Amino acid sequence: MDNTGIKPGFSEKINNQDFNKKRSSGFDKNQQIIFLAIDIATLLGIIYYGYRTDDLKGALFISAMFLLVSLIFFFGLKNRQQVEITYDGTIKYIEKQIEDYKKTKHYLRTLIIITSDDGKEFIYNEIISSTKNDYTQYYKAGDKVRHHLGFNLPEKYDKSNDEKLVCILCGQLVDIENDNCTACGKTLLK
Ligand SMILES: [Zn+2]
Repeated sequence: MDNTGIKPGFSEKINNQDFNKKRSSGFDKNQQIIFLAIDIATLLGIIYYGYRTDDLKGALFISAMFLLVSLIFFFGLKNRQQVEITYDGTIKYIEKQIEDYKKTKHYLRTLIIITSDDGKEFIYNEIISSTKNDYTQYYKAGDKVRHHLGFNLPEKYDKSNDEKLVCILCGQLVDIENDNCTACGKTLLK
């Protein structure tokens, strides 16, 4: 039954500028440039020292070793950053815990496990929300989802039978009639 008028599919609105800032912060180009600049300066220093002390061979050898170590380090660092990606998958498991804050306020901590289409397992266990945003009432095991780079909450593929829609920017569960989040005012993925 289709009660929302929203056809199954991932939203084109992810290209809206509301989502830009968070997505681009995943990569740190400046750090890479500084890293390379220090590398080049150190190499030039070693070679210059070798030239001055008449041990150019030794200096080149040290330079080659240094270059090798820093390249391994550099690509290790780059690969680690690329773990955070956009991918499609299926919710494998979802569970919530009710936790206390100073024994008076309650909040929810939700665990979501997603299996990507290429078989990898991703675990999100730091999803904190107020008790009225209960994600176990929204996502179900078996739901097809897309994890967007930089966001904790995935987008559901099929929203056609839902009464609520999740704002992946602030975590609010909003009535599906809305185009913008009632909490943060930003674009909803519908
Ligand atoms: Zn919001």
